[in-house]
Amino acid sequence: MMKQYDYLVVGSGLYGATFAHMAHRQGKKCLVIDKRPHLGGNIYCKNIEGINVHKYGAHIFHTNNKEVWDFVNSIVEFNRYTNCPVANYKGKLYNLPFNMNTFYQMWGLTTPTEVESKIEEQKAEAIAMLNGREPQNLEEQALILVGKDIYERLIKGYTEKQWGRKCSELPAFIIKRLPVRYVYDNNYFNDKYQGIPIGGYNKLITGLLEGIETRTGVDFFNNRVHWENIADKIVFTGKIDEYYNYIFGNLEYRTIKFEEEIHDTPNYQGNAVINYTDKEVPYTRIIEHKHFEMFGNEVHKRAKTVISKEFPTEWAEGLEPYYPINDERNNKLYQKYKELADKETNVIFGGRLAEYKYYDMAPVIEQALISSKGL
Ligand code: UDP
Repeated sequence: MMKQYDYLVVGSGLYGATFAHMAHRQGKKCLVIDKRPHLGGNIYCKNIEGINVHKYGAHIFHTNNKEVWDFVNSIVEFNRYTNCPVANYKGKLYNLPFNMNTFYQMWGLTTPTEVESKIEEQKAEAIAMLNGREPQNLEEQALILVGKDIYERLIKGYTEKQWGRKCSELPAFIIKRLPVRYVYDNNYFNDKYQGIPIGGYNKLITGLLEGIETRTGVDFFNNRVHWENIADKIVFTGKIDEYYNYIFGNLEYRTIKFEEEIHDTPNYQGNAVINYTDKEVPYTRIIEHKHFEMFGNEVHKRAKTVISKEFPTEWAEGLEPYYPINDERNNKLYQKYKELADKETNVIFGGRLAEYKYYDMAPVIEQALISSKGL
């Protein structure tokens, strides 16, 4: 029997929206459903006081992939935002990522040669401790990368708040995301292309989903049989463990609780992102949303500002899962689910939750472009 749709896309985040967009372009009939009351997954923004507020945490688009950059810019033009977060450790400020500015603030050193020997000295201590072993966890990896001063002030507290686990119990790869530079360059990312959609992320999502049927406030699991019979194929972007009824057990996720505040000042903290890296401050960072889209004195044109404090916590039913926790236990468990997923002929699994991967936005789009080729 002919099904009503070629593809049912479960979840309207970046993976689902990109996949649906490409399928639609190839003449496929798609229905996109999302259990939340809005489209866009975690890149959804809400306009508050004329400011696009990233409701599910700061999203900064960055990539080296020209095809992906051209693709997103063909949907909506991106601005020139460059992420330069600042770390606040017990009231003292340090530039991120770790670069000559940070090293000056940390040690008062001004030349790359001085800094290199300082870091070498600290690394030597870490290497001696390892006794010929490879670094096996985030703590060891960080000590090898930047030494104990930076680790203790800028990494340890933040990371343990973010992940709710000791650095010595976390996988090393998480910290490899952060660059270390011997130049005065506060750009957080190494990528060639970076920015925020002009007019906000909702424009990217509505652009991708133009001409495609969408339904919000609809939970796939509330009427699974109905949804499974509505289309020839399913693109599933939710939690893979939930898809399989948790038969092997629960995968773990971190989530974030946001405390949003509107302030009667045009400029609360002078930067989009300030990280609080000591363990005493209960939140990891404060985001001031207007700085993603307003630059220089434009910031002062609006009398008010909106900030969000981020409080990471362990995920539980009813909360939004944000970060997969890719430690050994979870990765092994995920592999078991993946074996089942690989056998499916009519279901495509994609995105952070379905692939249980700490994905940035650009690689998600890249993956969706690949899996939607030649449908
Ligand atoms: N990190 C840190 N100190 C900071 C910022 C980040 O130690 O001030 C570590 C922390 O472990 C974090 C990881 O670097 O989980 C990756 O940070 P990123 O900013 O890429 O995280 P995201 O923006 O995805 O939350």
